[in-house]
Amino acid sequence: MAIIAIASFVAIAVIAFVLSVGPRSIPEPEPVSPFAHLDERKAAIYENLRDLQFEYRVGKLSDQDYQNTKRDLQKGLAAVLAEVDRIKSGLPAAVAAPKDAVAAPKAVPRKPSGFVCDSCGASFQTALKFCGECGKPMKVGTA
Ligand SMILES: [Zn+2]
Repeated sequence: MAIIAIASFVAIAVIAFVLSVGPRSIPEPEPVSPFAHLDERKAAIYENLRDLQFEYRVGKLSDQDYQNTKRDLQKGLAAVLAEVDRIKSGLPAAVAAPKDAVAAPKAVPRKPSGFVCDSCGASFQTALKFCGECGKPMKVGTA
């Protein structure tokens, strides 16, 4: 009896979780294409990567900054691609953490040095035109 009660409670909790997560991960309904906002983010990340490579080539960035920022951007790109896959396969929001999140040690900066996105709070080692996390334009200081 107790087991049935627990099982049904868990089921309800899972459904409630999915329902509560769903609307948040897709803030605006996209009637045209569910990929539109992801394509935008992807494009923003690719542009950041291009800028990054350019700045690295002209010597504006250290190896360390370049590698760190590139890794952040690629992580963001992987997340976007994973979400595209998820939508394509019609699966509910992935509850499991992506491989990256498990493998990568949480490199939490002591203080938020670098460039912080006003929209989502993500910070980056180098100035970016667009946030690698949310794809919104970032205010870039005097570079
Ligand atoms: Zn952001």
